[in-house]
Amino acid sequence: MQDIKLIFYGVRGSYPVPDKNVIKYGGNTASILVEVDHQPLILDAGTGIISIGTYLKTNRPHLKEIDIFLTHLHIDHIQGIPFFDPVFDPEFQINIYCNENPEIRLEETIYGLFNQPLSPIGNEGIKARINFKILDLNHKETITIGNTIAIDYIKETHPVSGVLTYRLTIGDKRIVYATDVESPGGFSEDTIAFIKGADILIHDSMYFDWDYYSPEHPKKGFGHSTVSMAVENAIKGEVKKLFLFHYNPNYSDEEIEKMVQEAKEKFKDTYLSEELKNFRLRR
Ligand SMILES: [Zn+2]
Ligand SMILES: [Zn+2]
Repeated sequence: MQDIKLIFYGVRGSYPVPDKNVIKYGGNTASILVEVDHQPLILDAGTGIISIGTYLKTNRPHLKEIDIFLTHLHIDHIQGIPFFDPVFDPEFQINIYCNENPEIRLEETIYGLFNQPLSPIGNEGIKARINFKILDLNHKETITIGNTIAIDYIKETHPVSGVLTYRLTIGDKRIVYATDVESPGGFSEDTIAFIKGADILIHDSMYFDWDYYSPEHPKKGFGHSTVSMAVENAIKGEVKKLFLFHYNPNYSDEEIEKMVQEAKEKFKDTYLSEELKNFRLRR
């Protein structure tokens, strides 16, 4: 029997928070490692990916190729790349997947992180071979990693800028990663069909309702969900387990624990994504 391992290395949204009141769930920005036996795959590259680099070096010393799937190119989803150890290994091949459009270019954005004025490293400082793979939304294809993980993607039309939601199929198990989504009224029919029956749904959970609908500072249109939106999609999608993710950087551990309590009232199998916590699924 093969083992599917899910390890959260960054669960925070918008910016990293090194603060003692977030120590339990973690202050690093979005990055998740999925390993099927010894085949790794990375979802997003916030500051959490820096520790994934260390993990791979220590635990997978013979690994020379890695696949990184980016949901979009906001800074909290890519800022760890210039500090990701394999980038400086000349034997490594790094495959970076995302979609792009005429205004937002994947390759330019990633190289920009290594160059002035953001960084002194320069392109010559990059030792690994980086392959950019553009995910086409008009001709969607399933990507297979190591004969074990099949990846499909969909783009929600709301928020307008668009973010990819990924679905990993491993044998008869399915993991959906839906971060930076905002769906008052629930996901579109297409997205509900896409997430249907998933074993795990990792869902953006940036706000409480009182914060999102706050009269002084409403968060509508910011591209993020409330706990109740995550729960609504979990119910509509008939998923088995819901993991709250992409926490507001201003929320303490205590507040995040209130979120899960609130969610559990309507969807019992809700969990908190937690930095360095290992979650296993049997295939
Ligand atoms: Zn984000
Ligand atoms: Zn974003």
